[in-house]
Amino acid sequence: MTSAAGPEVPVLVRHEWCKGCGICISMCPKKVLEAAPDGKAIVARPEDCIKCETCEIMCPDFAIRVVGGRSRGVAQGKGDVAGARG
Ligand code: SF4
Ligand code: SF4
Repeated sequence: MTSAAGPEVPVLVRHEWCKGCGICISMCPKKVLEAAPDGKAIVARPEDCIKCETCEIMCPDFAIRVVGGRSRGVAQGKGDVAGARG
């Protein structure tokens, strides 16, 4: 396996905060995330990310963040996930 690191990583996982619960992995609609051998989330398919922010919203440990996501400085609006309007 090669590293998923690259100039266009859409999602950042803070591994020291990630406890490997797998919530983000199971909730991601595009299967972008996978579990590393230690159970922590890794960005396996960055090209498939639609930046819906589900992973960031669902992570109980604030360990994952969508690059350029609109959650910064905005109160969490759970019923307002982008990408499904009309
Ligand atoms: S939801 Fe958060 S703590 Fe759980 S695996 Fe994903 S990044 Fe790690
Ligand atoms: S932003 Fe959405 S598509 Fe991208 S990794 Fe998170 S849950 Fe998956």
